[in-house]
Amino acid sequence: MRYLSTRGHPDRRRFCEILLEGLAPDGGLYLPEHYPQVDAATLAKWRGLPYHALAFEILSLYIDDIPAEDLARLCAITYTAEVFESDEIVPLRELEDGMYLEALSNGPTLAFKDMAMQLLGNLFEYELSRRGQELNILGATSGDTGSAAEYAMRGKKGVRVFMTSPDGRMSPFQQAQMFSLQDANIHNLAITGVFDDCQDIVKAVSNDLAFKRKYRIGTVNSINWARLLAQVVYYFAGYFQATGAQDGGKPPRKVAFSVPSGNFGNVCAGHVARMMGLPIETLVVATNENDVLDEFFRTGVYRVRSAADTHETSSPSMDISKASNFERFVFDLLDRDASRTRALFEDELGRTGRFDLSGDPAFERASSRFGFASSRSSHADRLATIRDTDQRFACLIDTHTADGLKAAREHRSPGVPMIVLETALPIKFAETIVEALGHEPDRPARFVGIEALPKRVVQLPADVEAVKAYVAQHCDR
Ligand SMILES: *Cc1c(COP(=O)(O)O)cnc(C)c1O
Repeated sequence: MRYLSTRGHPDRRRFCEILLEGLAPDGGLYLPEHYPQVDAATLAKWRGLPYHALAFEILSLYIDDIPAEDLARLCAITYTAEVFESDEIVPLRELEDGMYLEALSNGPTLAFKDMAMQLLGNLFEYELSRRGQELNILGATSGDTGSAAEYAMRGKKGVRVFMTSPDGRMSPFQQAQMFSLQDANIHNLAITGVFDDCQDIVKAVSNDLAFKRKYRIGTVNSINWARLLAQVVYYFAGYFQATGAQDGGKPPRKVAFSVPSGNFGNVCAGHVARMMGLPIETLVVATNENDVLDEFFRTGVYRVRSAADTHETSSPSMDISKASNFERFVFDLLDRDASRTRALFEDELGRTGRFDLSGDPAFERASSRFGFASSRSSHADRLATIRDTDQRFACLIDTHTADGLKAAREHRSPGVPMIVLETALPIKFAETIVEALGHEPDRPARFVGIEALPKRVVQLPADVEAVKAYVAQHCDR
């Protein structure tokens, strides 16, 4: 399998070449040259495989530069019941008839980002040792991504993590999760500023190519193809669980997924699964008040928001103004026309902050051919959904999952199982749970008392040079 850029760069790369990279050289995103097809016989063969074996089957369709036995081993050490708390790894639970929750949040940091990041940690360690190289990951986080990255990379050989976060702005639980790590290769940098300052610093460092090369700076953001690929697996796993044993000879049953969305990474993996032939009827994109994506799927207009126009909501991991993976889907929507994709994302978006596909036949295909639908939720919706789910099903869900469940109910079709992806556990967003229910959510035993653990964090001003100096000082090259 070779990978191409959505903006038409002539190079074709292999998996391990793009593993440690971000954007393609022309600013586009990497996608496979084609989507391997999975037929009914293959689906039947995969049904019943343990999660790590299913992951191996899917990954090996896309990765041909890691020997099969090594890839199988990496999947096996990643997706274990010890790390993800159950043999199913992503167990399904039925709420009302035909409505399911797929649990993706039982990994080390209690959010779905562990599903991909845990694999990434093992892939990075493997590939860096093969090359005899080191990598220094510089990131910015407002919560979930940073902790998922740190728990995935802790103790890994050849990798250091420098994670900036806005000083004092994460929830006490999130701060404790990250800052209590004592691993020597993990560096928490609390920046006196807001999340945008952290992001600007990371961008500025990445734009200093000499520094970047000298200190081998890398990232783990959501545009990384390996992260997306790892997420494809749980769409298959959810499908198998929701459709149960099937009669031989009958056409495979269809399902629908509802996906709490921000950067369009999670739901883009669903799109890839569907393009491979997984029988998905509908992919529901669930947004909060930051409704860039809902607006597009309703109107055909994609309009990036300014920082001032991005709301702080009670599902904060979806507070985005620009969906960084969206270009991948638009590329497919435009029948993989790279020059049109480039014209939209580089020229139009760069010039006007928006593009409009409303009059274009391609926009109609978003629902008719690609199965997309969307919804938007408010804070009041979140509270109502959390209360209702608690009362009727004795099931406590987090605020992001609540956005997904509300959207799912708006897009049900009769006889089609609907699977809502649970993207975090409620303890991460306890404040809103208390507002909805009047009491704190349960805390998994391994997190009891973490706020009292010693913290390993340094404070730095919102200054690029200060961050560079810290990184330089802590890379023994
Ligand atoms: C990251 C995140 C999301 C959004 O996922 P995208 O892949 O960015 O669309 C939703 N919910 C939670 C809890 C998250 O951490």
